[in-house]
Amino acid sequence: MAKAFLEITLQHLDDAAKKVDLDPNCYVLMRQPERELTVAVPVRRDDGHVEVFTGYRVQHSSSRGPCKGGVRYHPDVTLDEVKALAMLMTWKCAVVNIPYGGSKGAVRCDPTKMSLRELVRLTRRYTVMIMPIIGRQKDIPAPDVGTSEDTMGWMMDTVSMFQGQTVLDMVTGKPVSLGGSLGRRDATGRGVMISTLELLKRFKRSLSTTTVAVQGFGNVGSVAADLLAEKGCKVVAVSDVTGAYYNPKGLDIKEMIEHANKHTFKLIEGYKSEGTSSISNEELLNLDVDVLLPCALERQIVERNVADVKAKFIVEGANGPVSGDAEKILREKGTIVVPDILANSGGVIVSYFEWVQDIQVFFWDLDQINYHLKRLMVGAFNDVWELAQKEKVDMRMAAYMIAIKRVANAIHQRRIFP
Ligand code: NAD
Repeated sequence: MAKAFLEITLQHLDDAAKKVDLDPNCYVLMRQPERELTVAVPVRRDDGHVEVFTGYRVQHSSSRGPCKGGVRYHPDVTLDEVKALAMLMTWKCAVVNIPYGGSKGAVRCDPTKMSLRELVRLTRRYTVMIMPIIGRQKDIPAPDVGTSEDTMGWMMDTVSMFQGQTVLDMVTGKPVSLGGSLGRRDATGRGVMISTLELLKRFKRSLSTTTVAVQGFGNVGSVAADLLAEKGCKVVAVSDVTGAYYNPKGLDIKEMIEHANKHTFKLIEGYKSEGTSSISNEELLNLDVDVLLPCALERQIVERNVADVKAKFIVEGANGPVSGDAEKILREKGTIVVPDILANSGGVIVSYFEWVQDIQVFFWDLDQINYHLKRLMVGAFNDVWELAQKEKVDMRMAAYMIAIKRVANAIHQRRIFP
């Protein structure tokens, strides 16, 4: 049976723990979340009946600072998935060396089948249910799959109503007009672009001859595709949940974004352009391209389909898109994978900048934000790349080694309470 996402995430930790000879007392602590909360979220639907949704907030580690992690609205989300995502956040913040621990939240719901008013009610009630454990110095939510900057604005407003004052710094990824940061919306995709360019540089690849396929055309995938096309790469295929589009001469990404923006759920369904054909998502993953960017959901490249993956480079825009079994096979094939905890860390980096700006009540310009984002991402990429070369391990192992050593160091310095 295919391994579950949490099992894969724990396996990465176990492998890296052995490699760095991790103190067993730290290891037992790292293997489980510090706190997990399951809540019932009753929502009055527009037709008057009440539906109760299940929500979660999991805090994996606060050793290096307040917990930080997104909120996902998805019909299939489980507590185990949220635990895995919370743990990934701990490693992500550690590998790029920002002063946070890791957390994640979710509500098991299908936001595409809810009205705006229902979504506002769901968000407000979920926020109240997790309010005892979130806050500026405790745990700071952000957007993820199925949520947006609007959702973060409603969360901020809900907490503010309870505190009797506007509290900007309790959530990031907010609209710019509500204390959000310039550049936050694009940050994860921009970070994926930066990671891809750094990787191509190591292999002396010219951008104009590099072909790219992108799975997922949401916040992460559409921005990464757009920025890589701007840099001169040929983005030949993109997809979303409704299907995939392929043009061997390169797609017009800006036109596709414009098309998707007209759709209520920003889907590319119905896009037509000369030379562009429809293919399946599976076919997209198997295209003979240089770079594959999985930017949709976890476990997309697995044992079942990995043999057909031809890309030389995979940059994980999504969290956990390559399973552990699949990665072993990719390694044998010589495929280089830039791991999620490095590749998609741009979002949490600019979330950190947003938090800092909210606390200072002083806002930076876009150049400053993009400059510091690039500085942190390139620095982390170099650290991971150099360790991978030195230890002769893949980039995921190197990233985990750096991250768990930093977390272990914080645990040692703080000591176990009491
Ligand atoms: P999103 O909801 O904006 O976009 C997800 C995209 O994937 C949509 O285009 C959707 O149609 C598509 N999709 C869903 N299932 C698919 C399938 N089976 N095949 C092809 N496409 C499919 O979400 P997002 O914010 O872009 O997040 C995408 C991934 O990146 C998630 O794994 C998320 O955890 C991760 N991530 C997001 C951020 C962020 O800042 N948004 C930060 C770090 C990591």
